[in-house]
Amino acid sequence: MVVILLGAPGSGKGTQSQRLAGRFGFKHLATGDILRAEIAAKSAVGQKAEPYVKGGKLVPDDVIIEMVAGKVEAGGKYLLDGFPRTVDQARALDGILKRGGSSVDLVAALTLPSEEAIRRMTSRRICSRCAAVYNAISNPPKAEGVCDKCGGPVVQREDDSEATARRRLMVFEDQTHPLVSYYRGEQVLKEIDASGSPDSVEAALAAAIESVRAAR
Ligand code: AMP
Repeated sequence: MVVILLGAPGSGKGTQSQRLAGRFGFKHLATGDILRAEIAAKSAVGQKAEPYVKGGKLVPDDVIIEMVAGKVEAGGKYLLDGFPRTVDQARALDGILKRGGSSVDLVAALTLPSEEAIRRMTSRRICSRCAAVYNAISNPPKAEGVCDKCGGPVVQREDDSEATARRRLMVFEDQTHPLVSYYRGEQVLKEIDASGSPDSVEAALAAAIESVRAAR
């Protein structure tokens, strides 16, 4: 089963993926987390990606597609978070899955007003070791700057500054939002209001996954 979480930066893809992966036993594939780890490790991919990530722009499709292709195994149960982000990436994903005899089962599109996405991004904090997501206002770690889960350092992402967050939203509208029509055409799209509490959004997502699972 392959589920994609689609949504603007700040719409809660990371938080919800971490919850749903545990609940349903998905392998969570978050291209942003993978890129941040590659950048921290100063790998070849990390060095290529760094200026794009820091500037709030999309990393070129060929780099991303090669990186993801190496991580998707035939027949696996995946929750994709932050990929695909362009129509070309979506087409490449279709090809990768088709070779393994599967296809995308559900695209959950999280909808959220832009100003709320900006508010969430600029108050977001993440663990730079295990990628756990916090919020400086509504969900801070118990000890300031220390991850509850792994004890790693909790920091603000460089690209969550207000200026870069606004650029990322524009990039989303321009390059990623067209995927809503793409997947509506494939009849796998389900739009979900992401403005509620994390628990209520999780409940809506879980219901969508259950109904696809029941229909398989
Ligand atoms: P995220 O953690 O999903 O918000 O991603 C952080 C940054 O990583 C994005 O602003 C992009 O620079 C880069 N990135 C993550 N996923 C992709 C992707 N599928 N295609 C291109 N760039 C990506």
